[in-house]
Amino acid sequence: MPDLQEIVHEIADEMARRDDRGDVATYIPELAHVDPARFGLAVVAADGTLACGGDCDLPFSIQSISKVFTLTLALGLAGDSLWRRVGREPSGNAFNSIVQLELEKGVPRNPFINAGALAVTDVILSGHPPREALGEILRFIRFAAQDDSVFIDESVARSEKATGFRNAALANFMKSFGVLRNPVDFVLGTYFHHCAIAMTCEQLARAGRFLAHSGRNPDTGCSIVSAERARRINALMLTCGHYDGSGEFAYRVGLPGKSGVGGGILAVAPGQASIAVWSPGLDESGNSHLGRIALERLARRMKWSIFGQ
Ligand code: GLN
Repeated sequence: MPDLQEIVHEIADEMARRDDRGDVATYIPELAHVDPARFGLAVVAADGTLACGGDCDLPFSIQSISKVFTLTLALGLAGDSLWRRVGREPSGNAFNSIVQLELEKGVPRNPFINAGALAVTDVILSGHPPREALGEILRFIRFAAQDDSVFIDESVARSEKATGFRNAALANFMKSFGVLRNPVDFVLGTYFHHCAIAMTCEQLARAGRFLAHSGRNPDTGCSIVSAERARRINALMLTCGHYDGSGEFAYRVGLPGKSGVGGGILAVAPGQASIAVWSPGLDESGNSHLGRIALERLARRMKWSIFGQ
C-alpha cells in the first residue's frame, strides 16, 4: 500500500516548484487579490486518516463547489421532481454561457453550470426568505464537514453581487420562461452568498466524505443521503463538474470532481477517499490548473481512477 501522506507531500512539493499556475479569476474583483502561489491538498481516507500538504488549512472561496451541496439539499427537498427544472447532460459550454438557455427554453442543461445552480437555489428558496435558505445551506455544509467554523465571506458575496451582471441576465432569462419561481433578487442574493462560502481543504475533504462512502459519514455513521443518491451525484460531478473541461478531467484524473473559480476542486474516490485541492490559478475552462494536475498525480499513484488502473 503506497504511503498516502508521503505522496501528498511529494505532490505539494512539486506543485510549489511549478511556475505554470494558470490565471486567478478577476471577474469577481475580490478573488483577484488571492495569492496565485497558494496550494493546498487534503485527503481523508476511508478509515478517517487525514493526509495534508501545503496550505490545506487556509480558507478559500469554494464558489461553484457549493453547487454539490445545494444539489444534495434540493434533491432532499424536491426529490426527482427537481429534474423537471434542470437537466442532467454535460453542457459543452462555459459555466456562465447564455446561448444554450434560449434554445432550451430556459431549462438549464445541468445543476452545475451557473444557470442550473440558480434553478437549484430557487428550489431551496421555495417558500422561505433568503436568509433562512442560506442558513439551511450553511448548516448543511457545517454538518457534512462536522465543523461549525465554516463561514460566508461577506466581502466576496458583495463583490460578486456588484459585478454579477451575467448571472443576473441568466436569472432574468429563466424567470421569463417561468423556470424560477421566487423573485430574481432573492435567487441571486442566495446564490452569491452560497458561492462565497469559505472553507479549508481539510474542511472540504471532510464535507465530501458522504459522497465517497455511499451517502454516509463513516466516522459518525450518520446517513446524509441514500447510496443511490450519492452514486448519482457522483455521476453528475464526473460528467458536468468541470463544465466544458469535464471530458479532460475524466480522461486525466478519472474521478468525480467539482471545481470552483476560487481554484478549489472536490474529488471523490468511491470507497477510498474524499479529496480537496486548492490552487487559485485557472485554465481556460475556469478550472484549477495545478489542482487538476495534482489530482492526476494522486489518482495515478493511489490507483484510484474509477476506470481501472
Ligand atoms: N460564483 C461564480 C459565478 O457565478 C461561480 C462560478 C464558478 O465557480 N465556476 O460566476
